[in-house]
Amino acid sequence: MTEWKDGIAKMALPTPFPVGDVNVYLLKGERLTLVDAGPKTKKAWELLTSQLRELDLRPEDIEQVILTHDHPDHAGLLDFFPDSMEVYGHPLNERWIHPTEDFLQEFITFFSSFFLKCGVPEEYLTALTDLKQMLKYSCSRSLTGALLEKMTPPGLPEWQVIETPGHAQSQIALFREKDGILIGGDVVLAHVSPNPLLEPPVPGESARPKPLLQHNHSLQKLLSYPIQKVYTGHGKEIDQLAELIEQRLITQHDRAMKVNQFLKESELTVFEICRRLFPSAYQNQLFLTLSETIGQLDYLASIGEIMRKDTQPVLFHAK
Ligand SMILES: [Zn+2]
Repeated sequence: MTEWKDGIAKMALPTPFPVGDVNVYLLKGERLTLVDAGPKTKKAWELLTSQLRELDLRPEDIEQVILTHDHPDHAGLLDFFPDSMEVYGHPLNERWIHPTEDFLQEFITFFSSFFLKCGVPEEYLTALTDLKQMLKYSCSRSLTGALLEKMTPPGLPEWQVIETPGHAQSQIALFREKDGILIGGDVVLAHVSPNPLLEPPVPGESARPKPLLQHNHSLQKLLSYPIQKVYTGHGKEIDQLAELIEQRLITQHDRAMKVNQFLKESELTVFEICRRLFPSAYQNQLFLTLSETIGQLDYLASIGEIMRKDTQPVLFHAK
């Protein structure tokens, strides 16, 4: 049963992805706001409509949508809303929610050369075209306005934006100081650690972002806010945020040290490390597993444990 609690109504929508349902949130305020939309499927739209009906509302009553980040399971359903719907989020959503041919080409060019440096065999490069498959559930919309660090979204005077990049470059969370509630998107989930997904360099930069380092920094940043409860992008709410974050940072460090151990034994390419970490998953989920592997290597480099040799492919070894 969908219901209001503290001015927030949680609705779970089905997605075609292994992650399962996505949570979207309705916020009461000066403007009725939907935080995240869901994937672009008829089923998600039907479920959104029926849950709104339980609140005596219709999709037309929603006055604006705020995106926590651009992933298709969170943004795609925007295409089902009228063109006049106002959409707010971090400016880095734009290249993903309105993907141009130029951007898709830039993505493929960047990652083809990057994967070869990682030692990925050429036959696996077709994994890059899976991107188009993913974007089938995304949308073609544009932001009405930008939400940046510390901003208050239109019509929601009690809420403040916290930028939380990592899982996505565009990721933000919404914090309400009076009761310590955070709407976190995928920055932290109760049951699983979000993937630090690789993205091409952001506009104006030439180096790729380092998503796991950003993610860790975003988690540390959250510790400085008096957060009582997190409404998450998938699954249950989180009540003991500080403990969970500490535990997640330790688990990540331990995983990185496992990679460090491999690198004490031999020089390896990213792809070789990836296959050791994910002996079967790498075949079907190359992008995800490589993202995770690169994350651990970025981390090890950041704490001074490993060195790289700029050969083709690049080789890593422990110091
Ligand atoms: Zn998600």
